[in-house]
Amino acid sequence: MKLLSIFIIVLLFAPQNLKLRKPDLKLSANEVIDKIKQEVTCDWLDDTVDTFKTGNPEDEVTGIAVCMFADMKVLKEAVANKCNLIIAHEPTFYNHLDETEMLQNSPVYKEKMNYIIKHKLIIFRFHDHIHMTQPDGIYVGMVDKLGWKNNRVNGSYTNYQFEKQTLGEFVDKLSKTFNSKDFRVIGDKNMKFTKVGLSVGAPGSASHMRFLDDENTEVLVAGESREWETYQYVNDAVLQGKKKAVVFLGHINSEEAGMEYCTRWLGNFIKDIPIKYFENGQVYWSAK
Ligand SMILES: [Zn+2]
Repeated sequence: MKLLSIFIIVLLFAPQNLKLRKPDLKLSANEVIDKIKQEVTCDWLDDTVDTFKTGNPEDEVTGIAVCMFADMKVLKEAVANKCNLIIAHEPTFYNHLDETEMLQNSPVYKEKMNYIIKHKLIIFRFHDHIHMTQPDGIYVGMVDKLGWKNNRVNGSYTNYQFEKQTLGEFVDKLSKTFNSKDFRVIGDKNMKFTKVGLSVGAPGSASHMRFLDDENTEVLVAGESREWETYQYVNDAVLQGKKKAVVFLGHINSEEAGMEYCTRWLGNFIKDIPIKYFENGQVYWSAK
C-alpha cells in the first residue's frame, strides 16, 4: 500500500517535473545568450563585439557549437551535429568588428555566407565578457591545459613561478602540451629562469612590453604579436644582455582551451540543449 501511494505521488508530480524542465528544450538563441548574460560576473557592455553576427536570434536552438573560430570546418561539423547556434571567441569575417561591407565581392565571404544562410546558422561572438568575468574563463581553461595551477603566484592568472630551468627545457614541455613545434621563441636557449608571465591572444605590444619590463617576468608566454612590435622589443632586450625571453604560442594555441572550458561552463546552466566543443587546432603548417 505504501509503495502504491509513493507510485501515485510520483505519477502526480512527474508531468509537473517534466513541465519545469521543458522550457530549456525550446530556448531561442536570444534566450541562451540572456542566460549567459546572467551568469557572467561583470555587467554586460553596451559597446561590445559580443553580438550576433549571422542568423535569426529568435530561432529555436537545436544545439550549441562552441569554438575559437567559426571556420568552414567548424561550420560543417556544427551542421553535422545539428547545432544551429555557434558561439565563437573570435571574429567570423576576418576583422575585429566583423564588418562585411568590404567583403561583398569576396568569393570566400560569399561562399561562407551562403553556407550560413542555407543552414540557418546563428553565430554569436563571446569574447569581451568571457575575459571580463571573474576569473577570466579563457585563462582558467588555459591554466588547466598547461597544468600550471600550482605555479600561480598569489592566485594570479598572469604570473607563475617555476623550478629553475632553461628556456630550452621549458619550450620542450610546451611542445609536448600542444603537440607542436611551431612556436616562435626569442631569447637564449640556455637562459635559466623561474618567473613566467602569461598573456593570451593578441592584447597588443604595449601589454607585452609591460610584462617584459616587470621584474616578475623573465619569460613571457604570449599568443601573437606583429613582428615589428614585441618581437623587436624583446630582440633588443636580449641583445642588450637582459634576462628576458618570449615564447609565441600562436593565437589559437594560446586561447583555444579557454573555449573548451567555456563549453563545460555553459553546461552548468544550460541543460537539455546539446553543447559541443569543436577544435580549430593549428590551421597552418610549417616546413620541417
Ligand atoms: Zn581572447
